Amino acid sequence: MSSVLGTYARKDISFSEGKGSYLFTEKGEKYLDFVQGIATNVLGHCHNHLVKTIQEQSKKLWHVSNAFVIPEQERLAKRLTKNTFADFVCFQNSGTEATEAGIKIARKYFHKIGQSEKNRIITFKGAFHGRTLAALFAANNPKHIEGFGPKIDGFDQVPFADHEAIKKAINKNTAAIMIETIMGEGGIKVVPDFCLKGLREICDEHGILLILDEVQSAYRTGNFFAFEKSGITPDIVPIAKGIGGGFPLGACLVTKKVSVGMTPGSHGSTFGGNPLAMAVGNAVLDIIFEKDFLNNVKKKGEYFDNNLNKIKKKYPKIISEIRGVGLLKGLKMVVDNVEFIKKLMDLKMLTVKAEENVIRLFPPLTVSDKELDEATDKIEKVCKAMS
Ligand SMILES: *Cc1c(COP(=O)(O)O)cnc(C)c1O
Repeated sequence: MSSVLGTYARKDISFSEGKGSYLFTEKGEKYLDFVQGIATNVLGHCHNHLVKTIQEQSKKLWHVSNAFVIPEQERLAKRLTKNTFADFVCFQNSGTEATEAGIKIARKYFHKIGQSEKNRIITFKGAFHGRTLAALFAANNPKHIEGFGPKIDGFDQVPFADHEAIKKAINKNTAAIMIETIMGEGGIKVVPDFCLKGLREICDEHGILLILDEVQSAYRTGNFFAFEKSGITPDIVPIAKGIGGGFPLGACLVTKKVSVGMTPGSHGSTFGGNPLAMAVGNAVLDIIFEKDFLNNVKKKGEYFDNNLNKIKKKYPKIISEIRGVGLLKGLKMVVDNVEFIKKLMDLKMLTVKAEENVIRLFPPLTVSDKELDEATDKIEKVCKAMS
């Protein structure tokens, strides 16, 4: 019997090595990995540049307290702000901490400007913001919150995509609207550009903040952030998963205006932003910022989309919809998603489920067309077997 607390329904398989798009078992069985630690290993397994970086940094310095200036942290923050809407970054270790930091920053902003009655955040049904208490009750997923009361107050939830409900929910106590630009766990539901623009307008009209949770979508859509193609500017953006390329790393990005409440002592993290994590975060950016890298993600996303749509057309009784942007893809299934995932695994391909009977596909951003074809092939084989 395992001594690990049983909080996961694990598959009875483990891996001993990974390279790029593939995972290998002890016995040498090779799996095409389109889970990638749930959208986390953006450069695939054991990318040479990351391996080299972590080796070198591990000989120099692992961890120092945030009581001291950390040059690697300064550098990553500078690169993240120079290339985005943000003016400041606070580093964490995970996505849930990043969203919690976002919630804290929003509340503290209004406190600082003398409007501390504005402390409630509007969130959406089907959202996922992580597993710490505030993030749990922000998303309010009945399956996740059961038994974890008392409820953390301060969140008002509305149905997804219901602009009227949002307007109705806003009152004098509203501080912010928080939404995932692409709802990941909820089933790869993309918030369309016109909705993002609509949300920005509502926020401006009421003097409240827009928090876009990009923990799952950052770097993955062919833009640096998924919201960028809409042209809007958010106030606060939590990121994690992909930004560490497989190393635990989270961050919360914020504008100068909204940062004013976050003075020394107002927030902290022992590990957040340590030299080892920062070296890896910088190394991931080295690759992401290479000329045409993100453009190629877009192209590969379109190529994969084309493949998947062909299958969908051929097997409309198996797959009903192709969702997602870039290399963040979801297949909405007509047949049971879990059964399909199991059959893909028999063909040595790994995928992960989401709500709404969706299968998520997270190839590494370094995936080749040939590997995308291999994935397409396996998906088509299972469609054929199930029809
Ligand atoms: C995964 C996820 C989180 C939580 O991240 P952890 O690193 O698991 O804490 C938060 N928000 C979104 C959108 C996510 O996909």
